[in-house]
Amino acid sequence: MAVQSNQQDAVHIMGAGLSGLAAATLLARAGREVHVHDIRADSGARFDGDFQALENWSMGVDFFDQLKEWGFDTNEFKATEFSVVDLIHPDDEITQATTNGVAYRIVERGTSEHTIDQGFKRMAIEAGAQLHYKSRMKEEDCTIIACGPKGTSAVAYGEIFETDHPNHIGFQLNDKLAPGAYSYLIIIDGVGLICTCLWRKQRKSDRFLNETIAWYEAHYPNLNRRPIKRVGGKGDFTINHRYKQDGRYYVGESGGLQDFMWGFGMRMAVWSGVLAARDILGDGDYEHDVRKQLMPYVRTSVSNRWLMNRVGDRTFKRMCKKWMTNQRKKGDGLVWIGKLFQPSAMKSLLYRLVSPFMLTKDPKSMGRGVRRMPFRKALKRDHWEPSDDAKAVGAQWDRIRRGGGQISFANDAESDSVAQEDGAISS
Ligand SMILES: Cc1cc2nc3c(=O)[nH]c(=O)nc-3n(C[C@H](O)[C@H](O)[C@H](O)COP(=O)(O)OP(=O)(O)OC[C@H]3O[C@@H](n4cnc5c(N)ncnc54)[C@H](O)[C@@H]3O)c2cc1C
Repeated sequence: MAVQSNQQDAVHIMGAGLSGLAAATLLARAGREVHVHDIRADSGARFDGDFQALENWSMGVDFFDQLKEWGFDTNEFKATEFSVVDLIHPDDEITQATTNGVAYRIVERGTSEHTIDQGFKRMAIEAGAQLHYKSRMKEEDCTIIACGPKGTSAVAYGEIFETDHPNHIGFQLNDKLAPGAYSYLIIIDGVGLICTCLWRKQRKSDRFLNETIAWYEAHYPNLNRRPIKRVGGKGDFTINHRYKQDGRYYVGESGGLQDFMWGFGMRMAVWSGVLAARDILGDGDYEHDVRKQLMPYVRTSVSNRWLMNRVGDRTFKRMCKKWMTNQRKKGDGLVWIGKLFQPSAMKSLLYRLVSPFMLTKDPKSMGRGVRRMPFRKALKRDHWEPSDDAKAVGAQWDRIRRGGGQISFANDAESDSVAQEDGAISS
């Protein structure tokens, strides 16, 4: 059914996450009646105190400048800036990527007051949007679909802990600890997160997190980690034939608008929410604007992901070396990584060649022509015996879990089944 819309109609938005709330804020500020429906009890409840990075290298403009230009108040949420990142090579060498500007801003996702989710919620309410939690609407009855992931292309698992270590970020390319992807350490004001991302589906995924934690403990001896909880979630990477269908706008992860290579999605979520709101307000054409402003980056990331799927530690090591050599030459660690994310003729050609084979059709996409990056199968090299240190980390977590330590893995049907199936949530 097509959603009919004119200037007087109320706009119903499905999903009170970053993309939905960004759209709601702009629409409500322009005087439209806006209702945002979310199946969960609050914005950010999909995440549970998880730290996420707002990357600041992929596009020539600083993301906070973009937010301000769109009319969002960046003081509404806590964001910690970093200009130095430990780059951890697959052979355990640790070098530092540095910049004079801002490489990352780390924000917290969740329901605490200082999270980005709650910051965007406050801005939407202040603008006059009406938010309805634990509210389920049919996709057909909403104008903006902003409900995050549907399928699973990849997962991430992490442990949140207390620590005395000063603020720090480590980014590790290591195909054993994070098959096909990366792991990271983030410490902000006495709270740490160690997370591993799995771009290949694994049985007993918690062994990857335990081994990763053991690795960081061995190489960052002053962590003094006191585990609190384990968190995680899935990522959905899709290319859509249409981003607007029957009057409905598919924004953020619901439109597959995120980075296929490493899963950065917050920036495009907000951006696409802004573009949808502008189209509804008669200032832009969503389909055209998404294709012009966002898709070149998404397509580049598909090519990058295709390349990543074909390599392992040897190439990861070469990448790290190239990154550092480029930093020495250019005097800025963001140049090399920025180039990797930026569109080029070669990446565009590669996208055309590989995407038909890489993505699979989603038959339930209401005629939008959605093609998803499938969660890839494990490789032989993903089967290994945990180290004694990793077993000790696992045993420590079991004790904490029995004492009330929470595991929150994005609480939706499909991610639950993934988590249980591959043993991420051990009972
Ligand atoms: C573990 C993990 C780590 C990540 N790390 C990063 C990172 O470091 N940097 C980065 O940029 N990105 C990261 N991402 C990706 C990023 O979280 C997403 O791209 C971004 O949140 C997408 O925003 P969104 O508005 O589309 O969805 P969300 O912000 O997730 O909001 C979707 C909302 O829709 C609601 N919803 C779901 N189903 C329905 C329904 N049927 N009806 C109504 N409401 C519904 C949900 O409850 C949720 O509130 C990470 C993702 C995961 C899982």
